[in-house]
Parts: sequence; C-alpha cells; structure tokens
Amino acid sequence: MKVFQSSAAKMRLIGGQLCLDFVNTVDGRGSYSPRGNSPSANNVLGDKLGNYLDLVGWSRHAGIITVLESRRLIEEGRRKASEAGKVFERALALREALYRIFKAILTDRQPQSVDLDTVNDELQRARSHERLTRAGDGFTWEWTGPATALDRMLWSIAHSGAEYLTAGDLSRLRECGGEECGWLFEDTSKNRSRQWCHMQDCGNLEKVRRFRARQHHGSKMKRPA
Ligand SMILES: [Zn+2]
Repeated sequence: MKVFQSSAAKMRLIGGQLCLDFVNTVDGRGSYSPRGNSPSANNVLGDKLGNYLDLVGWSRHAGIITVLESRRLIEEGRRKASEAGKVFERALALREALYRIFKAILTDRQPQSVDLDTVNDELQRARSHERLTRAGDGFTWEWTGPATALDRMLWSIAHSGAEYLTAGDLSRLRECGGEECGWLFEDTSKNRSRQWCHMQDCGNLEKVRRFRARQHHGSKMKRPA
C-alpha cells in the first residue's frame, strides 16, 4: 500500500517519546549553515508529512494505529477529503506547537501561551474519547469513538505531549548535536551523555565535519575515531 512507502512511515523513531518522534517528522530544524562542503548540505528543512496519507502512514509506523485502522482511515480520508485536510492542518499545528514548547524548555524560555492553547485544545478532544477500562488484574485507559474518526492519531499524540510535559524528566530532553538535524530526544543514558539522534546519521557526519574542519585549518591531522 502506497501509504507505507511514505518516508514518514520509514523514519527512525529515536525520540523515546511518541510526541518527540512526531516533532521529528521534520528534518533540518537545527541551525543550518549553507556551507557547500557540508556532508549533508542538501538536507535542509525536510517535512516528511505532506498530506493526510503521510500522517496515517507515520501513525501506523509509530504504532498508535493498527494496519486495519490505517486502512479504514485511508478510505474514510478519501471519502471525506476536506475533513481529512483539516485534520492534517491540526496535526501540523499540534506538531509545531509541541516543537516550540520543547525548544523553549531547551533554551530556558517560557513557552508561548498560544502554543499551550493548541496542545490543550487537542488534549481536550482526546480526553473526550478516553475511557477507563479493566485490563487483566488492573485498569487501563482506552480510546473510544468511531474507528473511522479521522483525527484518532492526534488523541495519542496530544496525550503523549501532555504526559511528557507533566510527568516526564524534562532535564533529559535534548536536541541532536548534528549541525543541521534539530531532532529531539530523551537522553536516557546513565551518565546523560547522549549527543546524537543516531550515531550512524548525525554522529558520524559530525566526526567527518570536524575532521574536515581540522584539515582545513591546517591543525593536527587525525583520523576520525
Ligand atoms: Zn541528528
């Protein structure tokens, strides 16, 4: 199915929190400097979510909807294209609001109330679909509402954002050190030393960049470790 070929449905999920992985559907948020010799100079602000189908593909990939649910949503989205378009707009608004809130936390600033309002609006919609239910010996929350509710993935994302902001360890929130990356993640390493979204991506690129910079400045030549 085409939806699973979307780049959003193949991206690395490295954030450690659903809400962070959702924010990471944009590449290149880091400070981009257009230096021609940069190893990934072409990788400027790339949004993996181009339409509602990408959103469904990512949601399936991230495990918040099943294959069956994704098929139903694709069919429903085709039938109600204008409604699906509105849900997609809401998804992007939620994503950018979450990004700005996380970025404010990272830079020790106050998040803007308009961004909190956006998350609260989605959270309120999500909560209206939450139901307490018995699970084994305990209890759990489950989502109620029609299987074809086009915005059902937003319930999980808004919930994840609110949970992380209220109960997560925000002192472990990090932005990837890759020059142009900008991906966010939760550093769960024991000594709080994780620098990269993924070593094979940004970690190695940064080593190459530093190596080249050293060569350029004529300082001590040393192979990247
Ligand atoms: Zn990175």
